[in-house]
Amino acid sequence: MKLSSRVSGLRPYIPGEQPADRVYVKLNANESPYPPSPAVENELRGFRTETLRLYPDPDSRDLRKAIAGMPGMDVTPDMVFPGNGSDEVLSFIFCTFFDPSLPVIFPQHSYSFYPVYAGFYHLPVRTVPLRPDFSLDTGTMAQPGNAGVIFPNPNAPTGILLETSGLRAFLQQQTENNPGRAVVVDEAYIDFGGESALPLLREFPELIIVRTFSKSFSFAGLRLGYAVSSPENIRALETVKNSFNHFPVDRIAQRLGIAACSDAAYYRRVCAEIAATRDQFSAGLQKAGWQVLPSKANFVFARCPGRSGQEVYEAAKKEGFLLRVFGTPGTEDFVRITIGTPQDMQTLLECLEKYCAAK
Ligand SMILES: *Cc1c(COP(=O)(O)O)cnc(C)c1O
Repeated sequence: MKLSSRVSGLRPYIPGEQPADRVYVKLNANESPYPPSPAVENELRGFRTETLRLYPDPDSRDLRKAIAGMPGMDVTPDMVFPGNGSDEVLSFIFCTFFDPSLPVIFPQHSYSFYPVYAGFYHLPVRTVPLRPDFSLDTGTMAQPGNAGVIFPNPNAPTGILLETSGLRAFLQQQTENNPGRAVVVDEAYIDFGGESALPLLREFPELIIVRTFSKSFSFAGLRLGYAVSSPENIRALETVKNSFNHFPVDRIAQRLGIAACSDAAYYRRVCAEIAATRDQFSAGLQKAGWQVLPSKANFVFARCPGRSGQEVYEAAKKEGFLLRVFGTPGTEDFVRITIGTPQDMQTLLECLEKYCAAK
């Protein structure tokens, strides 16, 4: 069968593996080790199956209200754009705001879906190397002549956070050099100890913040994410959405998303627990001689001197732990380890200590 010429150049994203040969502790996809709030379970038990014969609200109005009403948001519902996972939201953003006449900028080591979307929409790309300490080189990223910039904050897979003062300085430089060009801050991991860019929305109309329910809201299996920006930018996203899939968020996801938003206190506790486990695990690895990048996310990016990332990955897999390696030039020595329960992290730490001592 002949395929469209559009398809031949595609390089799809490869997610963390999900092998079925045995039970693994999955620390390779930054999923939460904890369940969603009990409010979600209640909502699901009370869900009226009968309503599934009807299309969902295409604009997810109640869900937008619920997201906008979460503590610390301080935005109106018309500043929220929900989608079927933040990956879909990101795809619409690439389509809506990055013009193919200039390169879109992202860090060399970053979320590996960005180059995939750039390829999908035929956008030229310029990747900017990280600094030697793996932090973002914001000065280079803000140079004149870009179609816009996108990066996760905290960055993935490094876990390193750009503090608000640095983010503001970057936004000033970028919007002065590239007025009217979108700056997309992907806050997939912001709830694990970072400070959100939300307060900067007033100052910078170019700013678009993307969030997901998958990580800090324990909803990777549900598919729910959203963008926050000016009402004007959100309307532009709606135009693209309504040209592609009118109903991206189904009835169940809308109901359960609203239930999740009603219990922000539960998720704050869970995220604090994960952050505490992360800091303890990082300290343990460092004590064992590892290099651990300073993480504000629900994972750590770390290397055992003298071992490749692939070797560490294989050793952990033998012990029943799935980790993630990227093998991209400059990160071959590193593994990305999602933070699980304190017990699992303690067991993994003991395995890794033994493995790295035995060389
Ligand atoms: C996990 C992740 C996402 C995708 O989240 P979904 O909402 O599950 O699609 C987006 N950006 C980054 C940086 C991520 O790590």
